[in-house]
Amino acid sequence: MERVGVQNPATGEVLANVACMGNRETADAITSANTTFYTWSKLTASERSKALRKWHDLLMSHKEELALLMTLEQGKPMKEALGEVNYGASFIEFFAEEAKRVYGDIIPPTLADRRLLVLKQPIGVVGAITPWNFPLAMITRKVGPALACGCTVVVKPSEFTPLTALAAADLALQAGIPAGALNVVMGNAPEIGGELMQSTQVRKITFTGSTAVGKKLMAGSANTVKKVSLELGGNAPCIVFDDADIDVAVKGSLAAKFRNSGQTCVCANRILVQEGIYEKFASAFVKAVQSLQVGNGLEESTSQGPLINEAAVEKVEKFVGDATSKGANIMLGGKRHSLGMSFYEPTVVGNVSNDMLLFREEVFGPVAPLIPFKTEEEAIHLANDTNAGLAAYMFTKSIARSWRVSEALEYGLVGVNEGLISTEVAPFGGVKQSGLGREGSKYGMDDYLEIKYVCMGNL
Ligand code: ADP
Repeated sequence: MERVGVQNPATGEVLANVACMGNRETADAITSANTTFYTWSKLTASERSKALRKWHDLLMSHKEELALLMTLEQGKPMKEALGEVNYGASFIEFFAEEAKRVYGDIIPPTLADRRLLVLKQPIGVVGAITPWNFPLAMITRKVGPALACGCTVVVKPSEFTPLTALAAADLALQAGIPAGALNVVMGNAPEIGGELMQSTQVRKITFTGSTAVGKKLMAGSANTVKKVSLELGGNAPCIVFDDADIDVAVKGSLAAKFRNSGQTCVCANRILVQEGIYEKFASAFVKAVQSLQVGNGLEESTSQGPLINEAAVEKVEKFVGDATSKGANIMLGGKRHSLGMSFYEPTVVGNVSNDMLLFREEVFGPVAPLIPFKTEEEAIHLANDTNAGLAAYMFTKSIARSWRVSEALEYGLVGVNEGLISTEVAPFGGVKQSGLGREGSKYGMDDYLEIKYVCMGNL
């Protein structure tokens, strides 16, 4: 079979050559998932739970190796990679527990000789397509609830980060999760996606990635009427009000912006700063960004790794060029880093406005645009002036304002005085064109379950 190289974005080195699969291998994986569905879904919740718990334990006992693999193929600093193993494994632990809580209902009948029951059953074979920015967690956040409910899965990891996915799947096998319950295919994305979409055995598509591909998958799923969950791009506002605690606001915005070098869909994409605090916040923020250490993620001191590839850097350059040509000012950085490859300097751009690409679209890189505003109403208007609606952040000491603004923001997640809010126990997902469905938490099970109504009559 044809093979494709997996590159280290920090060095350009080819780490491994993996199989390049297409239609045929995907069809085989779907058949295997479909066959296994009839046995896996018949196990008791407790049996599935035990296997998932064992997988969790194996992920945790291989934490260092998984984190190393992730840093090598994705570029994120080891500390963040270790954090992602914890985060990724936490979904398996959480859904191992939730497996036992798929409750049905008994509904009071409208006729005396009937009994009305509601059963929840696994939807069937799931196709899961995942991105490169969280090579482990985006898989476990989907596969955990799917397996817990009794579904079987065909996963397609990103072509940039298949090694973490393969290592995690191998640990699943060791944990006693049958080979057919978790299948991994990789290679030709349109072929794999096409096969998953046209199959009548695949009952659900769950996707995390770009809005453009998400729309394609949604359209492609229409013909077989699949259930679809989408986690797409964001354009997160981070609103700093005059009444914010400046240290909390700087620390929170820094974390929300520069995690994974700005390559997450919940990264602060637009930092809206109220006039009265603008100068003070901007100078403290620039100082904080100056302290970030760019380098190879394997080095202890690194807090900012490379971007995933050259195309990502070109996109960042285009956005920054567009902003400066329209009157924004570079306060820090603004160019490629001297380390070369796909390293870009942590950057702060001042006086950004809503006609610039930095405002309109997701930059997905280490660039923090500062946008001045006057009133709370204006901030809410600017924040909601986008088709995206995933994460939003605000910094204020006012309880009344935090309620008001949280309710007014058209977003699926809101962080108040906090820049890192994702956790396995809370629902993650977007509104508007940021997606459909929720992942994590008890709500994360719903997307993998069908509701069946049973009416027992003539009793
Ligand atoms: P990103 O910008 O995060 O790389 P993409 O949407 O391009 O976002 O990629 C996310 C995932 O979608 C990856 O696994 C990629 O291979 C996959 N993908 C890209 N194009 C298609 C397609 N036409 N059909 C199915 N999957 C696709």
